[in-house]
Amino acid sequence: MKKATILMAYLAISACFVGAVGSAKADAGELQNDINTGKSIMWLMTHPDDEIFSPGVLIEAGAHGNNVWVVNLISIYSIPPAAQHARRQAINWFRGKYLTQYINLNMTRDDPEGWHHYSWSNATIRAHIKGVIESRKPDVIVTSSPMGFIDHGAEHAFIGSLVTSIWANLSYSPKPKIYWIVNTGQVFIFSNDHLENESYPPTAALNLNAHSSVLNRTYWQAKVEFWFHYAQSVPPLLIYLQTPGALASNDHKEYFFRYQ
Ligand SMILES: [Zn+2]
Repeated sequence: MKKATILMAYLAISACFVGAVGSAKADAGELQNDINTGKSIMWLMTHPDDEIFSPGVLIEAGAHGNNVWVVNLISIYSIPPAAQHARRQAINWFRGKYLTQYINLNMTRDDPEGWHHYSWSNATIRAHIKGVIESRKPDVIVTSSPMGFIDHGAEHAFIGSLVTSIWANLSYSPKPKIYWIVNTGQVFIFSNDHLENESYPPTAALNLNAHSSVLNRTYWQAKVEFWFHYAQSVPPLLIYLQTPGALASNDHKEYFFRYQ
């Protein structure tokens, strides 16, 4: 699928959700409570490294022993060869330490030099994502904000829109909760190529300062370790981590919006 087509699809899908935003109720502890009560979490994003955006929720849920599935659409074999090896090492490390399963849907790109050409139709992407959700039946879905992440041809926002529209038509019950990642207040995610247009407040703030007896450190410290593993294959993350004071200047929280 071409970039313009993706953008048009994104705009069409996301327009459906704008009206619901204002009605959300703030509940800072809701996602924390989901983790504490053992809810399973499925994370659905576009690229095999997008878990760098808010890894704390995955780390904390994994440390609690919850089922945690990370699902990415685009094949790791479609990313530039130079990035593949280090990225696979990082993913293997993360999978072995925190995840129930890392699921790569393996959609290849038809442009080996680019990042924006999809080889599957919209309907095929939808069928794969719906299939993976309904096969695991997670309690909680986490995905990109359909109204944020407007970058790289809107691929992240596009997946957020698609996942949300699939969620609205899931066949199993009880229906899982769905949270969108919100950039507000988060570090790294604010980098210049991940511009944010959020027009709504987060409804859940996950505080990573708590100490984990399982990890023998705070969730924030575990997140920083995660970032250093992934930084070897994600240059903007490495630049961020090498910026003096970068890690000290944030509030150690991750923000989410519960769509309902
Ligand atoms: Zn991405």
